[in-house]
Amino acid sequence: MRCGRCTSVLLLPNKATLCHRPITLHKSRGGENAEQETLDWHWEVATMWEFENMGFSNTLSLGRPAKYLTCADCEQDVLGVHFLDETKLYVAASRVDYST
Ligand SMILES: [Zn+2]
Repeated sequence: MRCGRCTSVLLLPNKATLCHRPITLHKSRGGENAEQETLDWHWEVATMWEFENMGFSNTLSLGRPAKYLTCADCEQDVLGVHFLDETKLYVAASRVDYST
């Protein structure tokens, strides 16, 4: 799994499970005023330590405290979310690249 923008490797194969869980995310890192969309499919990742390369935003409120996941190299896109009251993290399936 790679960043769609700079192609950095985010996660190696078999480290995540695809799950149907609608989550509403901002479309970009434009702050709380950025447009939002609800995405149905996410990769569930057991802990933050599974990632090869992933950055985290400052804490924001998505109904509960959360951090956005972003590529640690380019920091351009909102790729997923970590709700701070959960161990698992969610990467939006439509926002990452799968080329090898
Ligand atoms: Zn990137």
